[in-house]
Amino acid sequence: MALQFQGLKSPFDCILFDLDDTLYPAETGISHATKKNIDEFLAIKCDISAERASSLRVELFRKYGSSLAGLIALGYDVHPDEYHSYVHGRLPYDRIASDPRLEQLLDSIPQPKILFTNSDRQHVTRALARLGIQEACFDQTICFETMNPHLFEETKDAISTSSEVVLKPSAKAVELAVCIAGFDPQRMLFLDDSERNMAMGKAVGLKTALVGKRLKTKDTDYALENIHNLTKEVPEIWNLNRKAKEEEIEPKRSDLDAMRSPTPVEA
Ligand SMILES: [Mg+2]
Repeated sequence: MALQFQGLKSPFDCILFDLDDTLYPAETGISHATKKNIDEFLAIKCDISAERASSLRVELFRKYGSSLAGLIALGYDVHPDEYHSYVHGRLPYDRIASDPRLEQLLDSIPQPKILFTNSDRQHVTRALARLGIQEACFDQTICFETMNPHLFEETKDAISTSSEVVLKPSAKAVELAVCIAGFDPQRMLFLDDSERNMAMGKAVGLKTALVGKRLKTKDTDYALENIHNLTKEVPEIWNLNRKAKEEEIEPKRSDLDAMRSPTPVEA
């Protein structure tokens, strides 16, 4: 499926949104709880102490992009569903609060929107449900399963099937998102809380917006302390000028409806 958008005067044809610590604030503690669960999983799987598990998690993240990718690369027999049910299945989802303003904000964006997360599908469903966001609000969801269909094949040929785990911040993951969207990466805006993901997004040619930080980095075109500052910090999405930013004018619903392009179509 390719998405369609006639860009009008906005510099963006498509917006990519990360989920965790981007659509909800890092202060929920979900990331911290995730790391704790990963440490427990590593300790059990690798038969090591909790202290060693924590440093191993950091090492695997640095070298392989994620703990799961590292475990698989090192030859551990771990199925992604087993990993995700342990690491995500016991998260304190009740800490993610319903956010009706977020749904309004997302609805107001005229461009196609793609949810682009390393998390598994079940986590996406649970986190969005807590936020009160319909997944249909997004034109596409790219999650763990989307990027790694080869890891779920029933009859796995150990010789010919790759066990590579594709996740942000790998170039392959970002290029896949660009390919699925079908737009010029220079006209796509990528929002994420990870500076590593931003750096790869920039390397692939995307415009980048770092969420959860006040200051831009060398790899980010925008920085917004939280997702609700999007209208103020990136008024170009709605083809609003900087005056709107200064006056903190919310885009008018009627104007946005007039800008909205046809819905996505099958390629
Ligand atoms: Mg994130």
